[in-house]
Amino acid sequence: EGRAAEIRALIRDVPDYPHPPVVFRDITPLLADGPALADVIEAFAGLHLPGGGPVLDGEVDVVAGMEARGFLLGAPLATRLGVGFLPLRKAGKLPPPVDRVDYDLEYGSAAIELRTGTLEPGSRVLLIDDVLATGGTARAAAQLVERAGGRVVALAFLLELVGLGGRDMLTGRTVETLLRVG
Ligand code: 5GP
Repeated sequence: EGRAAEIRALIRDVPDYPHPPVVFRDITPLLADGPALADVIEAFAGLHLPGGGPVLDGEVDVVAGMEARGFLLGAPLATRLGVGFLPLRKAGKLPPPVDRVDYDLEYGSAAIELRTGTLEPGSRVLLIDDVLATGGTARAAAQLVERAGGRVVALAFLLELVGLGGRDMLTGRTVETLLRVG
């Protein structure tokens, strides 16, 4: 669709960043474009869950976003849905007590944390991030939410890097992506 192509054009491809042969997808120009940002938030709000209506219609209790760009998309989406926002942070940023999930990266490991007690047990959680790459971050985020007693109803991303196979890390989960590239 034409609007999707316009929004795609606002995501800049940066070759060899942070190192060769990675092509980094930079969403900064999209964030800086008011109508494009609003359309992206509206598109997330209109996503349909399996067996349910659009998330806009009271289908989620809280939006959780992965640091850092998941915050930039997740917080305005939460406002649009009339629900709260839960930041899932890189290790060491939150004061204790925290729940934590460690996960492997291509080189080394990482961890994400959420503030213990901020998630109401049984809450229906929509997880948001900008890019689905290998899926490691998203899988850890879903595990973290579940460990804290939440129910992950879907994971939604602005852009899916299809060739990196992130969906395979999220088997059995509802995964929605607004844009996809090879
Ligand atoms: P994954 O764990 O799926 O390999 O990587 C996803 C995480 O890294 C997300 O939090 C995402 O923000 C970030 N990320 C990985 N590659 C890119 C990229 O090309 N562009 C942007 N904007 N973020 C990326």
